[in-house]
Amino acid sequence: KMARAGLVAGNWKMHGNLEQNEALLAKVVAGTRALQNAGCAVCVPFPYLAQAGALLSATNVAWGAQNVSQHEQGAYTGEVSASMLTDLGCRYVIVGHSERRAYYDETSELVADKFRIAQSHGLTPILCVGETLAQREASETERVVAEQLDAVINTAGIEAIARSVIAYEPVWAIGTGKTATPEQAQEVHAFIRNRLASNNEAVAAKVQILYGGSVKANNANELFAMSDIDGGLIGGASLIAEDFISICLAAQ
Ligand code: PEP
Repeated sequence: KMARAGLVAGNWKMHGNLEQNEALLAKVVAGTRALQNAGCAVCVPFPYLAQAGALLSATNVAWGAQNVSQHEQGAYTGEVSASMLTDLGCRYVIVGHSERRAYYDETSELVADKFRIAQSHGLTPILCVGETLAQREASETERVVAEQLDAVINTAGIEAIARSVIAYEPVWAIGTGKTATPEQAQEVHAFIRNRLASNNEAVAAKVQILYGGSVKANNANELFAMSDIDGGLIGGASLIAEDFISICLAAQ
């Protein structure tokens, strides 16, 4: 699309092993070599960041993590800092994925702190927002998405949004095979962009807003054709090389 470059980011979640990753990444590198006016990235489990760096440096494929600590460093056993991610060559880090909000009690304020520390180390946060099915059915989609977005704007400032990526991921569409229709997704993407525009029009025009939730090779084209959908955050289909490559090519 003309307004903004496309971006497709894979979220491997807690999947993979050294052998499978190597095969998958080799195929993704080859399949995205001719990508034009769109970027491609994989967000891998922490232990595989070094492997991603070794296999992806000097390719079209960027890499990143799926989470980051809100702290700079210190006695936080089991946590991984933003400076460690930049040390390993990460460009991106997902913050506020719905699985982390739901299973690890991440509040919008905590997500905002993670967003801010990621940016302060030069990482590009991929900020996930989205409503549950119950919230959608109660007509609370806009209220929920606005709250998740405003927490970050209030902490990091509106200008910081221009140096981030937003991913609209309706929780009911993640891993369920129930993709939002292009119209349903576009409606929320436009809401997000309008809310940003009411703060700063240039930021709203610039920021990439990805759709996530059961994006597959056979529905990516119609989703990415919508005016405010700049690409996708891809879970399950990012583990299948042929499917992920097709989705990347659809974002051109
Ligand atoms: C996700 O986890 O970000 C996601 C969109 O998953 P899936 O594509 O499997 O629905």
